[in-house]
Amino acid sequence: SVMEVKLNLCCVFFILTAATVKAQVNPEMCRYPLGMTGGQIQDEDISASSQWSESTAARFGRLDFDTGDGDGAWCPDIMSEPGGFKEYLQVDLRSLHFITLVGTQGRHADGMGNEFAQRYRIKYSRDGSSWVGWHDRMGNQVIEGNKNTYDVVLKDLEPPIVARFVRFMPVIDPSLIVCMRVELYGCEWLDGLVSYSIPDGHQMIYRGLDVFFNDSVYDGATAQRLTKGLGQLTDGTWGLDDFLHSHVPGAWPGYDYVGWSNKTFPKGYVEVVFDFDHIHNFTSMKVHCSNMFSRGVRLFRQATCFFRSESEWEPDPMTFRPSAEPLSQSARFVTVPLGDRTASSIKCRFHFSDQWLLFSEVAFQSGSAVYNTSLGPHKHGQLFSTCSCASSGDDPTHKVDDSNTRILIGCLVAIIAILLTIIVIILWRQVWQKMLEKASRRWLDDELTARLAVQTQAFSFLRFSQSSEDGSGSGSISTYERIYPASADYQEPSRLIRKLPEFAECAEHLGKEGAEGRRAGVGSDGAPHYAEADIISLQESSDSGSITAINTNLFAGSDSTLREFPREKLTFKEKLGEGQFGEVHLCEAEDMQNFLGEDTLMEGSSKSPLLVAVKMLREDANKNARNDFLKEIRIMSRLRDPNIVRLLAVCVDTDPLCMITEYMENGDLNQFLCSLRLKTLTGGEADQQEGSNETISHSVKLLGMAVQIASGMKYLSSLNFVHRDLATRNCLVGKNDTIKIADFGMSRNLYRGDYFRIQGRAVLPIRWMSWESILLGKFTMASDVWAFGVTLWEILTLCKEQPYSQLSDEQVIENTGEFFRNQGKQVYLPQPQCCPDRIYGDLMLSCWRRNAKERPSFQEIHAQLTESR
Ligand code: AMP
Repeated sequence: SVMEVKLNLCCVFFILTAATVKAQVNPEMCRYPLGMTGGQIQDEDISASSQWSESTAARFGRLDFDTGDGDGAWCPDIMSEPGGFKEYLQVDLRSLHFITLVGTQGRHADGMGNEFAQRYRIKYSRDGSSWVGWHDRMGNQVIEGNKNTYDVVLKDLEPPIVARFVRFMPVIDPSLIVCMRVELYGCEWLDGLVSYSIPDGHQMIYRGLDVFFNDSVYDGATAQRLTKGLGQLTDGTWGLDDFLHSHVPGAWPGYDYVGWSNKTFPKGYVEVVFDFDHIHNFTSMKVHCSNMFSRGVRLFRQATCFFRSESEWEPDPMTFRPSAEPLSQSARFVTVPLGDRTASSIKCRFHFSDQWLLFSEVAFQSGSAVYNTSLGPHKHGQLFSTCSCASSGDDPTHKVDDSNTRILIGCLVAIIAILLTIIVIILWRQVWQKMLEKASRRWLDDELTARLAVQTQAFSFLRFSQSSEDGSGSGSISTYERIYPASADYQEPSRLIRKLPEFAECAEHLGKEGAEGRRAGVGSDGAPHYAEADIISLQESSDSGSITAINTNLFAGSDSTLREFPREKLTFKEKLGEGQFGEVHLCEAEDMQNFLGEDTLMEGSSKSPLLVAVKMLREDANKNARNDFLKEIRIMSRLRDPNIVRLLAVCVDTDPLCMITEYMENGDLNQFLCSLRLKTLTGGEADQQEGSNETISHSVKLLGMAVQIASGMKYLSSLNFVHRDLATRNCLVGKNDTIKIADFGMSRNLYRGDYFRIQGRAVLPIRWMSWESILLGKFTMASDVWAFGVTLWEILTLCKEQPYSQLSDEQVIENTGEFFRNQGKQVYLPQPQCCPDRIYGDLMLSCWRRNAKERPSFQEIHAQLTESR
């Protein structure tokens, strides 16, 4: 009994030591995150087939990362291949890994994101050139992915894979955008085995039952022999004693084993070739075999292994014979010593000792790489070898074969002790985790309460019109708050998007994140004007820091030709209107022509003083309004085009800040067209008499206006400028129906054609906005084209009604959802009465194409309109 205790202690000691050995192919142990989350995988090792934009590049596809850099995930450019299945996010692990688990997440982006992959596939490669599509043990390739944007969904890879490169391939529904963040879990593949080559397994008929011993998860070529792949022999799953049964639910009899019948091997052995990534110094090989001799299955009689480091097999093989004939029918690992031979390939001949030879797993021990011997619930074969190994230091199989019951009992006691320890550790961890969760929930609650408090304050701020931002406390409400929420053309989409099932979550977060989304924003304002949204932090270039610099450079300081005009030389004539910043006055500017110089002769400049429009910033405007006003000045000072309103001078030395622009006699295009309509209506009889000629000249005139707007927009697009608020209300009419685009409060330079997103809550002209601007916050030249289509529609309907006037704001957002879903349920603006068919069919509708890339450019629009006049 002293001996027994010693053995038991020895077993426990060995098992404990074994448990500390680096896990290699025990799928239950081998579940470490491989570095997407932790950052060990470098950006350059993450690539993708395409990206929706620079800010959704592959490097942002790291699970759990939502740092504010980028848009919060990798999103493929589905527009480039609608309905395609080829888009992928690729991770290079730099060395072979045994991968047991994958995790995916959608694009949450602090509540702005609303895309995720509901289903995806996995492809992998060991060498980077030949790729294999992963499938589960039943042959299914598609993995069920995420159901929302933030939860991590983990999926066991059953069977696990051995790979260096892994591709995540979202199954793309053409009506949905997908974005992904991913992580891989596993451990390094220390075996170094890259492929094994075997004759394919045979079929046994056992008492009328078909038993299949094929290698059903082999990932290489499957001709006469299976070559260049790995499969069941390296999947970490060891067969049960009774080969008819399996751990895998629904598996066919014989599933766990690859086996051969001696009838087809006249030489009496099965030859297996193992290829490794490089030369190793091999200590031993372990082969998990069935030993059901009552059914004609036995361990091999002899294994002869040849070694190859270069091109030729070395002449002196290692031969090994399991010594004693084991009495037990249990499946077991047989350890074949490999004598520290160096090789990059090993060829072993396993000799039959009965009718059948069945293997379920093969593993190698070489140099420092130690095959893991830690415990798993179904790994009894391994257990035996562990204990016997501990008992004497001899070849473990021999001792196992002795079937020493006492040793077994000792081992079992040790195992129970270990299991109890593991259970205690797990329970302790769970308790600890719960405590942490509780603490973090409390913390989140606190934060939420704080935020709600801020928002409540914000709301009261709005109600009671306290201007706290600039400290003036004048009691009059700030410009933005007063004008925009009151205007029917501008709505806060986040409130409305909540109604769309796919976007409800996003809107929820949009609402909550209001204050947070704006970095230097209004702060306490509950519903800022869109121009206040933080757009400079938007993801324009790969280096998020550089965009601030780019914008600053472009707009820092005003144009050299733009100078301070002496305020006292302006004489007020009348009020022209009121906009987001304040009032616009008609003024006489004394000596303006001289001030401007010879090169900038204004029309009617002979008249002195010159009539100008003076846009003034409301005195109680907050800091943001002031900044935006200055931004508009900087932008306008760079624009010089016959169809863009010209900024002549500024008065910014003292308050109120003023911008002096050319005067457009006929006011804004919306009012102008309304008055035109009224005139037409009152002169109705005359019109009828004039007949169709009048109608034709009428539409020619309207198209002439559209041509001018297209020309102005063509100029803006040549500068890569996105206006973001193109509408008739933002175009001005001068003499002889000259049209000029104005209101650059919202426009931004897109620099290199990238796009930017609005963060936080914003009030936006939803009826003019493209679906992707509303739902994804994506503004591009193509979304300006969409707005142009709406503007053209306004012109041709003489601004008789607001676009989609029959739809409520909620329904407009719902319709946007239909554009997104693309199931043919979206409603387009109808063809205006005086709109020629080809203008509606070929132009207007093309501006509202779902795929932004398929919309025409302003150059094309301009050419088309000019032709059709
Ligand atoms: P805004 O602040 O630019 O939206 O201007 C408000 C209103 O003032 C416009 O809708 C026009 O009716 C009028 N307005 C602005 N700029 C001019 C201008 N340069 N010439 C004539 N009217 C203008």
